[in-house]
Amino acid sequence: MSDIHVLSPEVVDQIAAGEVVERPAHLVKELVENSIDAKATRVHVEFFDGGRIVKVIDNGKGMSPEDLPKSLERFATSKISKTDDLWKLKTFGFRGEALASIASVSKITLTSRREGDEQAHQLVSEYGKKSEIDKVGGSQGTTILMENLFENTPARLKFLKSDAAENTAIKTTLKAMALSHFDVEFRIQENGKLVNFWPACKSRKDRVEQILEIKPMYEGEAVRENVKAYAVFADPHNVAKTARNIWMFAQNRWIQDRSLQAAVNEAYRSLLMHGEYPIAAVWVEVDPDCVDVNIHPTKSQVKFQNPSLAFRAVAGALRSTLEQAPWIPKTAGAA
Ligand code: ADP
Ligand code: MG
Repeated sequence: MSDIHVLSPEVVDQIAAGEVVERPAHLVKELVENSIDAKATRVHVEFFDGGRIVKVIDNGKGMSPEDLPKSLERFATSKISKTDDLWKLKTFGFRGEALASIASVSKITLTSRREGDEQAHQLVSEYGKKSEIDKVGGSQGTTILMENLFENTPARLKFLKSDAAENTAIKTTLKAMALSHFDVEFRIQENGKLVNFWPACKSRKDRVEQILEIKPMYEGEAVRENVKAYAVFADPHNVAKTARNIWMFAQNRWIQDRSLQAAVNEAYRSLLMHGEYPIAAVWVEVDPDCVDVNIHPTKSQVKFQNPSLAFRAVAGALRSTLEQAPWIPKTAGAA
């Protein structure tokens, strides 16, 4: 008799959900990325109870009624179709598993109306069990309401931090999403209260000033072979006490990358005191086939083919401006 059996799709979904939606901030990121992939220019996010209830409303291209149930299937996506596509991604999504994962651990009400359609359609899914599709009123775009997060998996519920900590993580994620999409309007409500409203901006620099609330900021860029870096940053008198104000983006995806963070610190080295950290947002762009964004389910890390080029480009982008700026202390005897 054999001991081994293939896991049921429900169990597989829940295992995957553990990686993709480890905490509410991750699922908020997935939902907002979907809105941006759908070319939304307005994204409204409401969250309650530490993110156990989340609603994302967008004015993107919407989905057909046939696609509503498909969007909740695992490995079902409209964004790629062959392996080759993985090396020329133009969208945030491509794994086709975010909605399936979220749906397996929550109740989802999905309402969508495609451009040109006369009405919206709605589907309700409870822990993966889908309702019939209803015709409903609604404007163009997609609204996803997620409720009862992890109520079918009490063990996971226990791993959530305090509501305040989860809310902070959600707001940090949304800041990053808004930083990387200056042309999208974001409206953010926490427990029914408007906490951020960021209208669309004209440039990355305007967006950084708007969101980090520091003005003026400086900008610089540098190219090292096929790596391009662009940075917006505060002058060395405007400092932070932690490295949390260094925002990194690769191919416009928000990433955590110690090496690139070190590159930012390196550029400021002689300008900051011990315990002071720069405030900066840095974008790194390389040819799509020179970076792997598919090394982690939450896509929060990437792998550069040549990490040292990326380091030098980032340090260079900051230094090119920092070195000319008036705040550089004159060396003794130079006066
Ligand atoms: P992925 O983004 O990797 O394709 P998801 O599970 O996040 O996988 O979404 C599955 C599919 O559902 C997407 O490929 C897209 O076609 C559709 N979809 C999801 N969210 C939206 C949205 N806000 N607007 C339009 N289509 C959406
Ligand atoms: Mg997605």
